[in-house]
Amino acid sequence: MPPCSYVNEQAKATFLGTGTSTGVPVIGCHCPVCTSTDPKNKRLRASLWIEWDGISLLIDAGPDLRQQALRAGIRRLDAVLYTHGHLDHVVGFDELRAFCWGNRPPLPLYANPSCMNTLQTMFAWAFSPSNTHGGYIKPDPRIVEDSFAIGSLRITPLPVLHAGVQTNGYRFDAEGMKSFAYIPDAKSLPAATIELLDGCEIVILDALREQPHPTHLCLEESLACLQQIGPRQAYLTHISHESEHHALQKRLPAHIYVAYDQLILSLTHWYENHSLRPT
Ligand SMILES: [Zn+2]
Ligand SMILES: [Zn+2]
Ligand SMILES: [Zn+2]
Repeated sequence: MPPCSYVNEQAKATFLGTGTSTGVPVIGCHCPVCTSTDPKNKRLRASLWIEWDGISLLIDAGPDLRQQALRAGIRRLDAVLYTHGHLDHVVGFDELRAFCWGNRPPLPLYANPSCMNTLQTMFAWAFSPSNTHGGYIKPDPRIVEDSFAIGSLRITPLPVLHAGVQTNGYRFDAEGMKSFAYIPDAKSLPAATIELLDGCEIVILDALREQPHPTHLCLEESLACLQQIGPRQAYLTHISHESEHHALQKRLPAHIYVAYDQLILSLTHWYENHSLRPT
């Protein structure tokens, strides 16, 4: 089991969804994974919620956002960070309005130029000066081109190759926190990005399925990337209905885990919480 039994309420990352763009089960599919009753084989669209030092940060806002926010008990967001503009990562946009109600300031949305363009094209009304209705989302667009900070959290964009769409993973560092990276959609990681992952303790990486795929890392490719990076722990995500959770887990090295919906990672640093120190 991953070392998630002790969780500091103020320092955690919650997998809101670990599925590929269809989600699992897939509509109309009767395969063993889609018909499995095991919660670990039920995957909403890929998204991560980070809580650190009073910061509540959502990565990607896909079509399952409403259900994910209710299930995880998200009551407040300080920002949304987008990896790229594919629909399984952006079409929950309108659900973000609930985080803008009251006298809250506009919600910072961090995205690379291509993804911001997608958001502003798809949801032009929200970015328009005429968006003054109190019930609507009030976005505060912030283009990601280099490292930046949200509170004490330092965030480094990790450019990856994915389906010809400008796509970032992100690395997160903070004093006293396990450094971790989240890369849900990638076909390959450029050498410069591998370098940016140097010393990163936890890597969460795309591993769509066993068979090669034109736009996503398959299992073998994902494991090869992880071997190159050498994190202390890794979690596989953005998984299709072709992978059964337990069968996949059995095939992985001891420090690599199959992520599943609602899995919570403690971000408290290993050395500040010896009970979490892997043996
Ligand atoms: Zn995706
Ligand atoms: Zn299926
Ligand atoms: Zn994608």
